[in-house]
Amino acid sequence: MKRAKIAKLFRIKPGKKFRLQDYPTNLGHHHALKHLRGEKLTDDARADVQANLDKLTHAQELLYANATRSVLIVFQAMDAAGKDGMIKHVMSGLNPQGCQVYSFKKPSDEELQHTFLWRCARCLPERGRIGIFNRSYYEEVLVVKVHPEILAHQKLPPGKRDKAFWRQRYEDINQLEKHLTANGTLVLKFFLNLSKKEQKRRFLERLEQPEKNWKFSAADLTERRFWDDYQQAYQDCINATSTEWAPWFVIPADDKWIARAAVSAIVSQAIDALGLQPPVVSPEQLKELAAARRELLKS
Ligand code: ATP
Ligand code: MG
Repeated sequence: MKRAKIAKLFRIKPGKKFRLQDYPTNLGHHHALKHLRGEKLTDDARADVQANLDKLTHAQELLYANATRSVLIVFQAMDAAGKDGMIKHVMSGLNPQGCQVYSFKKPSDEELQHTFLWRCARCLPERGRIGIFNRSYYEEVLVVKVHPEILAHQKLPPGKRDKAFWRQRYEDINQLEKHLTANGTLVLKFFLNLSKKEQKRRFLERLEQPEKNWKFSAADLTERRFWDDYQQAYQDCINATSTEWAPWFVIPADDKWIARAAVSAIVSQAIDALGLQPPVVSPEQLKELAAARRELLKS
């Protein structure tokens, strides 16, 4: 499937009502993939990731050389949806100098002394770089919305924590992303859409396979109890913040390699679409280069 078509398939159009239940967690039964099954599907997806990685490597070089644009990639998902593996596989092989990954956990005391966008704003990619957020300021309208008692620790001015409060947070996020886009940052946001059933399978694997025990955290099980609330929070959030300038992509995540193939296709295509060209060397610079060469040859 063409990369642009993949992007279109998973992109959430602004202005159109988005319902999470309309989006599959598994693409194995998609009509375009009907001729493939099981192993073959995974093999093809792996090959796609590799091919897209080559394209991404080239795109990253142009991004770095131009140093005018940057790329921000946000990953959000339920636990065990495969964010870490996604980052590892989709970005492996990129120039580490041009790529930064930040993971956002519970905010520290220092972070709570600032507004909710601050800690992420400090980590935004420099010009020419790709920045990856493993969780992000979106936690502020996801985990915090599911557990509004967290707000009590946020040192906020008094006020109602009603619909208008959350609307304001969405609006703040949209405005931040608009500012970034207007100033040269390409913003791409991915929700890795995992089914409750597959999460259970992966958690059991973590409990039953000794080499995966370290991945299990009791807190993950606690959050699983709030599954429906999270689904609702994701749906509301994506409805409010999938914009023309910073779209959300809802990626079926039950099959890890299909998810990786989709994300790598969308990211590489989006950077290619920036149409970056290698920087042009001016006649003056050419003269300087020639002079430098002459001097070097004489020495
Ligand atoms: P992994 O489990 O693979 O190490 P993770 O991203 O799940 O990665 P954890 O330390 O397990 O990392 O979880 C981080 C927790 O911090 C999550 O439950 C997340 O919802 C929470 N968190 C992130 N940002 C905020 C925030 N702004 N306010 C409150 N909780 C947050
Ligand atoms: Mg975790």
